[in-house]
Amino acid sequence: MTGFTMTISGAAATGDGTFDVVDPATGEVFAQAPDSGRDQLDAAMNAAARAYRHWKLDDRARRRTLLDTAVVLESNIERLARLLTSEQGRPLPEAHAEIGWATAWLRYYAGLELPREIVQDDRSGFAEVVRRPAGVVAAIVPWNLPIILAVWKFAPALLAGNTVVLKPSPFTPLATLAMGEMLREVFPPGVLNIISGQDPLGAWMTAHSTPWKISFTGSVATGMKVAAAAARDLKRVTLELGGNDPAIVLEDADPGRIADDVFTGAFMNNGQNCMVIKRVYVHERRHAELVEALAERARTARVGNGFDDVQLGPIANRPQFDRVSELVTDAVAHGAVAAAGGRALDRPGYFFAPTILTGVADGIRIVDEEQFGPALPVIAYRDLDDVIDRANDTPYGLTASVWTNDIARAADVASRLECGQVTVNAHGNGLRPDLPFGGHKQSGIGVTNGPWGLHRFTEIQVLTAPARVA
Ligand code: NAD
Repeated sequence: MTGFTMTISGAAATGDGTFDVVDPATGEVFAQAPDSGRDQLDAAMNAAARAYRHWKLDDRARRRTLLDTAVVLESNIERLARLLTSEQGRPLPEAHAEIGWATAWLRYYAGLELPREIVQDDRSGFAEVVRRPAGVVAAIVPWNLPIILAVWKFAPALLAGNTVVLKPSPFTPLATLAMGEMLREVFPPGVLNIISGQDPLGAWMTAHSTPWKISFTGSVATGMKVAAAAARDLKRVTLELGGNDPAIVLEDADPGRIADDVFTGAFMNNGQNCMVIKRVYVHERRHAELVEALAERARTARVGNGFDDVQLGPIANRPQFDRVSELVTDAVAHGAVAAAGGRALDRPGYFFAPTILTGVADGIRIVDEEQFGPALPVIAYRDLDDVIDRANDTPYGLTASVWTNDIARAADVASRLECGQVTVNAHGNGLRPDLPFGGHKQSGIGVTNGPWGLHRFTEIQVLTAPARVA
């Protein structure tokens, strides 16, 4: 599969060369993507800066184009979903769902009105806090959810009146490039530029003098480099980074009833979502029962090529496959027992058996680090205060969940957890267009989604006048 082009100033653009894109279900190269050099990056930034002058002026046109974008994605859903499954590995129905969420987010933003923030309106004067766009936004996306995470960035950035230069991950550039091609007639030239390249392109973007803001989703390690690059000329940043998200199962929770939701909360997208459950702490009286219920689901999960009738596809790329394998091997070397899985599948591609680990404790890498894959440690605890401390004893702070029939107790536990979202009796239910999503501690800076996320793509301006401004 070849023929993918970048979108710069509304036109097709090739790179200085190309780089390989690998199908994780086979481990084979199946496409090439354009490798943007500095000249193409400059062209994209210049186009975005030119387009900004007009784009910021017409609020209605901006809302209309977001609605048009949703329609274009819907009418091309099959092609986009197939590209996502080919490059990222997730089952085709989930790829469809990702495009569906993207359209829901686009429609939400198209209708999002921010209330006016009038501080004074009387005979002695008028004062209002106004949110203004500020120019070009550089948007950098990881490989786990390429389309939805791109939309989370460009939809609010464009709605606010900014223009965008967006780079997908080098592991998953194709659906995003195709989306750019589909949207060339929707946006005026230069408003949404999509360029592809390898990791150095991301570093060039963050060091470039044109953007006023970087919206980045990816690992903590890269997020720190982005923050350091942004500090050189005080660019604004939103950083959506990794997590080590705990699920805390209280003594009264029924393992048989919650196992399906805990399993889904940990293994959706093959464990490769920033906010999935990365470690389960379960009261010691319920531990054996929950381990067996989760292991049963792991053993019977259908794993295979995302184009077949499966629940879980391959791990999305070779480095991530190696990392998950390494963390599971390390855990077993430290005494962990695999109640299910524990090894790669003996077939081509990056397939790993869904793994439930017991006999693990804090201090083991798979508990302390973000595994980002289909391997879940399930840890027994006795004392609730102690386990809350252990859940918080991490540099991460993205999401958590509490599982109990006692909602008041769950709310008390939630109030003591250091993270951006807590869900009771489910995991990740706060991931909605109208709720802010972001991490405490090293899981990020700022939030995305809702009016709170939109504000992050604006600068505040105070307007004072002798009388009310209409
Ligand atoms: P990554 O940090 O390796 O790469 C992310 C993006 O940054 C890619 O596009 C990459 O090319 C680019 N990049 C690499 N080096 C760069 C540099 N020096 N400057 C600027 N950009 C650079 O992350 P990944 O492996 O693609 O994604 C997985 C990580 O993303 C996990 O840690 C996961 O938790 C996190 N994530 C977070 C969220 C969230 O909303 N909090 C959502 C999804 C994924």
